[in-house]
Amino acid sequence: MTTAGSLGTLVEPQKEVPIAYDVDVAVVGAGIGGLFAALAAGKQGAKTLLLDRFGSLGGNIGPAMIVLGSLYGEADGTLVGGLAGLSKELIDRLEELRGVPAHNFPDETSIVSYLGIEMAEEYGVELLLSVWAADPIIEDGRMTGLFVEGKSGRVAVQAKVVVDATADVDIARRAGVPIIAATPPDPSLAPLVRPPLLEPEYRVWNDTGLFYLVANIDFDAYQAFADSRVTLGEGDREWLRGRNPGGFPQPLLPLLRQAWESGEYRHMQDLEPTVHMASRGTHIHYGNGLAGNHVTVRGEIRREDMEQHSRLEAALRKHIFETVQFYRRHVPGFEQAYLLCVAPYFGARGGPCIEGEHTLTVQEAYTGRKFDDVMFRNIHEGLPMHGGEPSGHDVPYRMIQPKGLDGLLVTGRGAAYIRRGHDPTGMRSRPSIMMLGEATGIAAALAARAGATPKTLDVRQLQQALLRQGFHLGDDARLAELSLR
Ligand SMILES: Cc1cc2nc3c(=O)[nH]c(=O)nc-3n(C[C@H](O)[C@H](O)[C@H](O)COP(=O)(O)OP(=O)(O)OC[C@H]3O[C@@H](n4cnc5c(N)ncnc54)[C@H](O)[C@@H]3O)c2cc1C
Repeated sequence: MTTAGSLGTLVEPQKEVPIAYDVDVAVVGAGIGGLFAALAAGKQGAKTLLLDRFGSLGGNIGPAMIVLGSLYGEADGTLVGGLAGLSKELIDRLEELRGVPAHNFPDETSIVSYLGIEMAEEYGVELLLSVWAADPIIEDGRMTGLFVEGKSGRVAVQAKVVVDATADVDIARRAGVPIIAATPPDPSLAPLVRPPLLEPEYRVWNDTGLFYLVANIDFDAYQAFADSRVTLGEGDREWLRGRNPGGFPQPLLPLLRQAWESGEYRHMQDLEPTVHMASRGTHIHYGNGLAGNHVTVRGEIRREDMEQHSRLEAALRKHIFETVQFYRRHVPGFEQAYLLCVAPYFGARGGPCIEGEHTLTVQEAYTGRKFDDVMFRNIHEGLPMHGGEPSGHDVPYRMIQPKGLDGLLVTGRGAAYIRRGHDPTGMRSRPSIMMLGEATGIAAALAARAGATPKTLDVRQLQQALLRQGFHLGDDARLAELSLR
């Protein structure tokens, strides 16, 4: 294939397609944001359809297997007041099923997918899995549904409200909503963003990763190796400068150098001049010889570019296999280890977002800005490192409303908040995305029920509904100020 469009274009013949669904709320993408949006809309009594390109639910807390990082069961670091509503219900049920607190164990990802289906049944959400959302349907300047491609061919879905939870703003982009792909150089970000990310080359910056599991590791043997020490020569130290992305135990470093110099294996590679891939040495051990890890790929990753996407998927999967082979050949404890599974897609932390009716800035998050259309209070990501307002910032309803277009709400990673690699507003963290999803689903359901649109929805009605679900919108004085008490 050549660059899309470079071979010319064709006119696709017009055709009639069946209307397969007519619903109140259609949620596109059953990842973190979309799952909670659909469950919330269903719980509010809306006729709800949830669709995804995969067969399992949960996105980055489901099949994409984020098995590292901070706890999503303990949301104290990212949400004022902690988890509430459906997020709390799902985590409570997960912990009950598992018998221990949620902690990024690999089997939690399957439990999330299972609970997603179970809760969808309970709240009357219809699932349409293994389908791709294609073009939106727009009538009189308002989105009224979308086309979906699946094994049955192309069908139409009519919806009073469409929720784009694809994380990559697929539907919003195709509808012509303004998209923020590159963060403008902004010196005022300096205290909040790690210095290298302020360089011009990082204007279009995305921070992604592909997770995998390795089985049959003799972890005692590996730990003994990792705890040992070898002598590093000056040449080793010189070679290592800029080549240790972290987590590799010291005795492994000369082995990495030898493999690099012989051409056997390279733990870091430039996949494109502005796209860098790096393996990490941190194997999180879950017991019984099972460990989780991920390879990061950072830089100018264009989520809307299917050719680049395909190249990166292939390169990452090849690299992961070769990484495990390298470990098997050289690292004590890995002799009999094997690659058990790789997540079905590489997810992103940064990436594009819509321009919203209000786009939340880093400064607003940092200074604890309040908005009259607050849905809940979130904590900006820099708090432990950079200070800022410890009581968090408001998440405004306008942040999920695309600028200028009605009938559509955008939730999850695609909502309107400024990010650069790791998102310094703190909105991208899993607990925040779960809550944002639920708030979006409630808004969509209320608008559909009232015969309103997302833009004409009575925000006080939304806020009352959120308070009933236990969302934290502010202290008593603030609630009185907003006439919510
Ligand atoms: C490497 C990495 C590390 C992370 N680390 C942390 C961490 O430490 N702590 C933390 O709290 N969070 C972490 N996250 C979470 C992250 O930061 C995201 O913000 C979060 O996953 C976004 O959720 P989402 O619902 O928007 O996207 P996703 O969970 O990715 O869901 C998107 C869904 O949409 C579906 N979809 C997309 N396009 C289409 C289409 N056209 N048709 C049909 N379906 C479609 C996908 O299949 C998927 O199910 C990490 C993520 C990554 C990738």
